[in-house]
Order: sequence, then structure tokens, then C-alpha cells
Amino acid sequence: MTNDIIIVGGGIIGNAIAYYLSLKTRVRIAVIEQNHLCSGSTSLAGSLITKLRGNTQLIPMVEETHRAVAFLKDYIPGSINESRVGCLHVAVSDETEKNLEQLKNIADEFNIDTETVTSRWIRKHISWLKTSEIKKALFAPDEFFVDGTQLGLVYAAAARKMGVKYFTHTEVTQLLAENRKVTGVNTSGGLFEAEVVIDAAGIWSNRLLSPLNALLPYAPVRSVYFITEPNPEKYPANQPVCILPDANAYTRPDKGALLFGIRDKSSPATHPQRLHHDLHDQTFVSSCEMWDILKNQAATLRSLMNEPDDLKIARNVSAPCAYSYDGNPVIGKIAGFEGLFAATGCSGGGIAASAGFGRLMAELVLNEPTFVQPEPFNPARFPEGNPFSDEFMQQCSLQRSGKKSG
Ligand SMILES: Cc1cc2nc3c(=O)[nH]c(=O)nc-3n(C[C@H](O)[C@H](O)[C@H](O)COP(=O)(O)OP(=O)(O)OC[C@H]3O[C@@H](n4cnc5c(N)ncnc54)[C@H](O)[C@@H]3O)c2cc1C
Repeated sequence: MTNDIIIVGGGIIGNAIAYYLSLKTRVRIAVIEQNHLCSGSTSLAGSLITKLRGNTQLIPMVEETHRAVAFLKDYIPGSINESRVGCLHVAVSDETEKNLEQLKNIADEFNIDTETVTSRWIRKHISWLKTSEIKKALFAPDEFFVDGTQLGLVYAAAARKMGVKYFTHTEVTQLLAENRKVTGVNTSGGLFEAEVVIDAAGIWSNRLLSPLNALLPYAPVRSVYFITEPNPEKYPANQPVCILPDANAYTRPDKGALLFGIRDKSSPATHPQRLHHDLHDQTFVSSCEMWDILKNQAATLRSLMNEPDDLKIARNVSAPCAYSYDGNPVIGKIAGFEGLFAATGCSGGGIAASAGFGRLMAELVLNEPTFVQPEPFNPARFPEGNPFSDEFMQQCSLQRSGKKSG
């Protein structure tokens, strides 16, 4: 089969890239996915789409997703049911209070609507949150969350409408290059020729690149969240998302229950060669460790709750996603190979920045001016690091355990 561009991986990033390429060019594009679409990290995400964050390089990437959601809702009516609940940033410590003041300046600089809210406001909207220790709370009303799988499938549906071909349950087994020029991929379904190959295989990306000695600066790092039993009075579906940096936690409503994520101190990385093909087949946390995270590492979060003993856990989710060494995405051309590109390292923000990934990658592949500076995302920015070394994976883990944003 001959195509012009092959995208490896039908997660939200591969689909967003396919969608943006299909808007800009009429060449033959194929997406190849080893399982079904959006069955990897995308299927397990908390899927906050928060623009306001300390890392300002990511804000235009997330703004692009806000624009894409608005457009795609009209393009494919009824396709996306985003929850426009807003996001409350909460400071309990002096340090976080100062950071919130900086965040307010960032919001003003990027025209993101925010308001400082009172304890009364918090009690009305988030009844479980204890207000006595809160020093400052900043509410951004336009923030939302989505179903990450749903958004990923909508990018794919839009790309299909524009002529992109999809091959699911087809594993790419080898990236092919002659004289350092890409020629296509070998797959479980045969040879696919192409002049451009984009590796959007998420946490698996380095497995494909390893034989070419072209590793990317990221590691698959575990994320964890919990979901309580339903209690719609306490956790109504329109309750705002909460970012609680002092508790290394975030919360959002989940169909009448509360979903809360803990940036746990260990956040271990898994060697890419040890990943199963299907994330749902693999266990990343023992039940013993899960209880430890809940008991010890969620202690600060519980201390910020009005009735902490009432927190009844129904289930937990733990899975890795690709954290880069510096917390920035990895998007761009792979040095030394003509026609080889990669998009991964979304560092827990791949749903939020998905359209930004798609647009930037499309612009880079088509050699167009880019809507953001691509240098901070350049795959070659850590030429000395060996992403398979323990030291390197530890650095990536720290990006997860130290994360404070949405
Ligand atoms: C617990 C958890 C919570 C999260 N919460 C949030 C959040 O609130 N907000 C947010 O923005 N992000 C969040 N994320 C991160 C988000 O899930 C990821 O950034 C995003 O899903 C990455 O998308 P992807 O397309 O790169 O990866 P994936 O969805 O993993 O897609 C990669 C695809 O490539 C396929 N593939 C791999 N190898 C091959 C091969 N050889 N051949 C063919 N196909 C292949 C895989 O099967 C997979 O479908 C969270 C992640 C986790 C794990």
C-alpha cells in the first residue's frame, strides 16, 4: 500500500494530527493503530482541558483545543459533550498564594478570564472543600473537561470525512529507512510505503525508534486517580474542577461522584520494552501501594475536606503516560532522518493540548510557518540523555510527582 504520510498510533494525538493534516493538504494519509482507536493512555485520562497554567508555552496549545472543540461540535453535531464547569485554583500555603498571584498575571497576559472568589462562593459551589485554611482561590470560568476518548474519536471522524484512511488492529513492527530517508513501515498487515512517517505511538514511541538509534526524551510514567462512590448532592455534575497544589491533587466531578488525582511521590517509570500492547492488560500499581497513596499521600487532600471520613472510594485508575524530561511535549522532526517525525511526551496534558499537537505537527510536516515556537518541543533538545537509563527515567518521574497544574 502506498501513502504519502503514515501516522503510527490512533490515540488522541495521532487522530488530531490526521485531522489537521487533512484540513491542510490533499495527499494520501493513513493512520495505523495496533488495537482499536483511542484504546491507549487516551482511554484512561482524567481529561481536564485547562488553559491556565504556569508553563506559558503550553497555553496556546490548549487554546487550540478550545477552538477545535468549538468548531468540531458544529461540524459533527452532538459529537462532544464537554463539561463547562470552570476551574478553581486553591492556595493554602504562603508559597502557593504567591504562585496564584503569578497565575493571575499570566491569566491577564493571555486574556483568560479569572475572578478571585470568597469562602462563601466556595461553600456554595464545592461544599466538601474546607474553607478555613484557604488563603486565596482563583476561579477560571471558561475551563472545562471532556471525555478524552470521545474527543479523540471526533478528530478521527473529521479526518475520515476529509479522506484519511484508518487501519486498526494492525501493528507497525518496523520503521523503514534507506540511506536515512524514510520509505514506510512494516506492519502485521504487510508493507505500507510512504515518504513521511509520524510516530504518534504515545508511551510506545521509543520502542519503534530504538532500532534506528533515534530515541526521544521521555519515559512512560505512572499516573493515578481515584473515583468515589456516587453522591450527587455532594459532587454535582456542574461542580468546578479544583487544582490543589498544596495537596499535589486535582479533583473533578464524575457523573455524581468525585474523581481525584494524586501526583504521588513515587510515580515510577516503566521501561518501554516492558509495556504490553494493551494497557488494559497490565497492572501498574499493587493494591497495597494504592492504599498507601490513599492513606499517606492523599492525607493533605483529606485535611482540606469537610468530612474526610466520608470519602468512600469505588475504584482507582493507574496507567502510564509519556512524561518528558522537562515536562514539555516532544514534537518535531527526528534529526538525521528525512521524513521521520514524532509527537509524544505530553506529560499528562495530551488531551488538553491535543489540537495544539495536531496543528503544530501538520505545520512542521508541510513546512509552513508554525503557530507557536517549535524549539521548546524539539525532540533533539537532550542530545546527551539515554531515555532507557534509570537516571533519565527518574528525571521524567519527577516531572509527574512535582506537577502542580491541571
Ligand atoms: C491516569 C491518567 C490521567 C490523565 N489525565 C489527563 C488529563 O486530565 N488531561 C490531559 O490532558 N491528559 C491527561 N492524561 C494524559 C493523556 O492521557 C495523554 O497525554 C494522551 O492520551 C496521549 O495521547 P497519545 O495519542 O499520545 O497516546 P495513546 O492514547 O496511548 O495513543 C497511542 C496509540 O499508539 C498505538 N500504538 C503504539 N504502538 C503501536 C504500533 N507499533 N503500531 C500501531 N499502533 C501503535 C497504541 O495502541 C495507542 O492507541 C492522563 C493520563 C493518564 C494515564
